Amino acid sequence: MSEMMLPQIHALPKHVSDKIAAGEVVDRPLSIVKELMENAIDAGASFITVEIKNGGKSYIRVTDDGCGIAKDQVMLAFQRHATSKIETADDLDTINTLGFRGEALASIAAVSQVEMITKPASAKAGVKVRLQGGEVMEQTDTGCPDGTTIIVTSLFYNTPARLKFLKGDNTESSLIIDFVSKMALAYSKLRIRMINNGNILFNTPGGGQIYNNILTIYSKETGQKLLPVSADNGSMFLEGYVSDPSYSKTNRKQQIFFVNGRYISSRMMEKAISMAYKDKLFEGRYPVAYLFLYVNPETLDVNIHPNKKEVRFDDELAVLDFVHSTLRDRLNTKQAIPEVKAEKLFSRPQTKEERVEEQ
Ligand code: ADP
Ligand code: MG
Repeated sequence: MSEMMLPQIHALPKHVSDKIAAGEVVDRPLSIVKELMENAIDAGASFITVEIKNGGKSYIRVTDDGCGIAKDQVMLAFQRHATSKIETADDLDTINTLGFRGEALASIAAVSQVEMITKPASAKAGVKVRLQGGEVMEQTDTGCPDGTTIIVTSLFYNTPARLKFLKGDNTESSLIIDFVSKMALAYSKLRIRMINNGNILFNTPGGGQIYNNILTIYSKETGQKLLPVSADNGSMFLEGYVSDPSYSKTNRKQQIFFVNGRYISSRMMEKAISMAYKDKLFEGRYPVAYLFLYVNPETLDVNIHPNKKEVRFDDELAVLDFVHSTLRDRLNTKQAIPEVKAEKLFSRPQTKEERVEEQ
């Protein structure tokens, strides 16, 4: 082999390595909405607006009323591995925020045009920054409400291969609307507003009433056919709503599960539901269910799926039996069940401190 043909190893320029790293965090508009919503929640927001246009390809806006970012920190927020959420490696064991890798904003900025307007309550004026492909184009002081707005436009304008991979606007927007709906259910104490192509799809009332949120996000018709469920066996707690057998769907899309406050997908929960409704529905018909299961976090493995949507329980059979028997008994009871108590519906994953307090 001649020397000419030997591969030459060289470090990639920063803008190239940033683009590659960004691809791992941002693969479609949904991932941007997810990161921005999680940041808003971590910032202590009580009201979050998510607005998208063209499936998020041309426009994504997330506005929150959270803590905002101080003027001298704004540029740091867009640096890779820059975070306010951990300081030392030890902090990794006690993390109770949704983000901590400090990659989201850097990744989003690397593959789009970003505008951020932010103001902490303590600051007189806010800041507006505009970035393109990760470079700051403009930074100015501005009057604005407390909190943060991030607007992402021209997604993947500098990575055409990624742009081509995106599905049609309707597919991309339903992924986002579905995600925001589930977040609104999981975080029922927050007010969450979803706007698609200029239309307000829902605007949840906050206040932690799951039932009100179901009515707001899904249809009124669904709401009227729902039976409240609540059961506690000492080690597990289940609550939520399932449909009366007189109401059913042709698919399982509205069987939505949360474990310890987080949305998950679960074959096991689907199976428990099917078993409970076995003699009550025709084949091919599926009840609607919004179920919140709380278990001891030590008996739960949330790491089996990279994006943590699948979970595994130490004792799958015990969970299956608990959910199945709770629903079966509920469907067989004619007597009214007391309304689910609002204060029991905690709407975000508990922190370690909170769990200790309750024990
Ligand atoms: P991470 O969430 O992992 O820390 P991000 O890149 O998502 O990393 O955000 C970087 C930092 O910017 C956060 O640690 C936080 O301090 C700040 N930040 C991002 N979004 C918001 C927001 N909506 N409100 C207040 N601060 C924010
Ligand atoms: Mg984040």
